Amino acid sequence: MERESIEMDVLFVGAGPASLSGALHLSRLVAEHNEAVGKGTRKGKSLGEIQIAVIEKGASVGSHILSGAVMDPKALKELIPDFLEQGAPVESPVKEDYFLYLTKTRAIKSPVTPPPLKNHGYYIVSLNKLTAWLGEKCEEAGVNIFPEFPGAEMLYDGQDRVVGVRTGDKGIDKEGRRRANFEPGVDILAKVTVLGEGPRGSLTKQLTNRLGLTEGREPQVYSLGVKELWELPDDRYPAGRVTHTLGYPSDANTYGGGWIYGMQNRIVNIGYVTGLDYQDPLLDPHAEFQRFKEHPHVAKLLEGGRMIRYGAKTIAAGGFYAIPQFHGDGFLLVGDSAGFLNAQRLKGIHTAIKSGMLAAQAIFEALLKEDYSKQQLKRYRQLIRESWITQELRRVRNFHAAFRHGRWLGLANAGLQFITGGRSWGLFDRASSEPGHEAMKQLKDYGYRGDDILQRYGKLKFDGKLTFNKVTDVYHAAVSHDEDQPAHLHVLDTNICSTRCAEEYGNPCQRFCPAAVYEMVEDGGGQRKLQINFSNCVHCKTCDIMDPYQIINWVTPEGGGGPEYKGM
Ligand SMILES: Cc1cc2nc3c(=O)[nH]c(=O)nc-3n(C[C@H](O)[C@H](O)[C@H](O)COP(=O)(O)OP(=O)(O)OC[C@H]3O[C@@H](n4cnc5c(N)ncnc54)[C@H](O)[C@@H]3O)c2cc1C
Repeated sequence: MERESIEMDVLFVGAGPASLSGALHLSRLVAEHNEAVGKGTRKGKSLGEIQIAVIEKGASVGSHILSGAVMDPKALKELIPDFLEQGAPVESPVKEDYFLYLTKTRAIKSPVTPPPLKNHGYYIVSLNKLTAWLGEKCEEAGVNIFPEFPGAEMLYDGQDRVVGVRTGDKGIDKEGRRRANFEPGVDILAKVTVLGEGPRGSLTKQLTNRLGLTEGREPQVYSLGVKELWELPDDRYPAGRVTHTLGYPSDANTYGGGWIYGMQNRIVNIGYVTGLDYQDPLLDPHAEFQRFKEHPHVAKLLEGGRMIRYGAKTIAAGGFYAIPQFHGDGFLLVGDSAGFLNAQRLKGIHTAIKSGMLAAQAIFEALLKEDYSKQQLKRYRQLIRESWITQELRRVRNFHAAFRHGRWLGLANAGLQFITGGRSWGLFDRASSEPGHEAMKQLKDYGYRGDDILQRYGKLKFDGKLTFNKVTDVYHAAVSHDEDQPAHLHVLDTNICSTRCAEEYGNPCQRFCPAAVYEMVEDGGGQRKLQINFSNCVHCKTCDIMDPYQIINWVTPEGGGGPEYKGM
């Protein structure tokens, strides 16, 4: 097949805050350098026109971006010091912080907000809007942005050096045949390829497996955030109010917590995070979120309101010890792809932006030296190590691992770390970490009897007012995929589904997926088989992470398919 090749100097994959900040900063470093050389105020030669591209699988920049979000502005201030004057879309500065412990019926207000959850000086943002704005800034600076371009395959030279990315083909039907509108993906060749795919990137996974980037590191662990936007009938929850909760509905062995952020125009942004290292095979993060809304305190807040948007996305929560090798011949990893999120604060926007900027600095120096080798790009590692990203992540390096021993020990450890500057011992130390899917117990080991998968949520009703089933929620994520294409969720052995998995775990994919993609249905011959409703997929990657047999491989669908997270 004839494929077009496009030559770029630098390619960023994924238009998230990390890549966009990197592309913008790099374009400025190059422009400043060339200008200074032109004026004779800097020695050396001009770099000429450097072609920088950002590819994004979503229909536009921001389409697939979902976050909380309370943003620590320190990195954005470094990138664009007058970001407010320049019209950065922020919902509100944080004005009030609350921390609640929820029992089944009560909400106990903590007299003090734990320091990591203090948000004074920060901003409530819609990251979808903020990235769209950053995308415009990039275009003004001459960066080429290509939406609807999913990076499908890493490209290497004969010595395993990364030389670019192949984008996905368009116009393949569900049987794998070419349709009339078939267009082969293009090979985008670059001197440096930067992966900013967010958590559990599909290209990052390919690269990691090929080059062993996680060898000697703790396994990455993830959480899943499930979220809705609600329009309230009055001003009962003002813009700028931030509430975090702990406790109900998570059981004491499951890492989880809720958030409620007040946005403009009487919109509240409400969500629930569940650690994807839970033990109960019947747990369903979407159902946990519905239960959270049923809590009397939350239900009262939402009374008379209207749910207007839904979405779900994973969070790379492993922290410092789970950071993979993030540089190599011809490539760098930025943002959540490199695991630079502070799980204790549930904040990764600032570290994503900063890592993009440091990647830009390292690439700029590589361009000057015309050297894109691992040895040269090691400079990025040095810049990260010397930066506040490393300081911040080191201080909370043992945060997540201790929650493996339950909520109370996890919290005790979090408090202790605050005093010790991150040091932990024994049980609480990083060595207790394992991949999240290994924590899930089999039905019988968790104490369930029989195969009734409704045992955990038997009483949960979806009333269509306060609580919604997954299909209704997915409708509010505005998801669309052309249905005449091969499923982008590759289940490598479907026999396991109707045999071992049904018996051992009760097919947990039906529950951990927050978008009703996986369904066990009658096959017509008295057996049950897996049906994949891939068009519902919100690209959260939970299935790729949480499948107990690790046989689900999430790959990019046709460009432009997926959710449309307006205002999320
Ligand atoms: C529920 C939730 C709540 C959060 N709350 C907060 C908060 O309050 N404060 C905070 O600071 N942080 C928060 N975070 C974390 C924060 O959103 C992330 O740390 C940050 O968005 C990471 O930025 P990124 O650029 O690395 O990746 P992302 O924001 O994930 O962006 C990655 C982009 O790459 C695209 N992409 C992926 N793969 C490909 C591919 N192969 N080809 C083309 N495009 C691709 C995606 O579509 C996406 O647009 C939250 C995250 C979640 C999920």
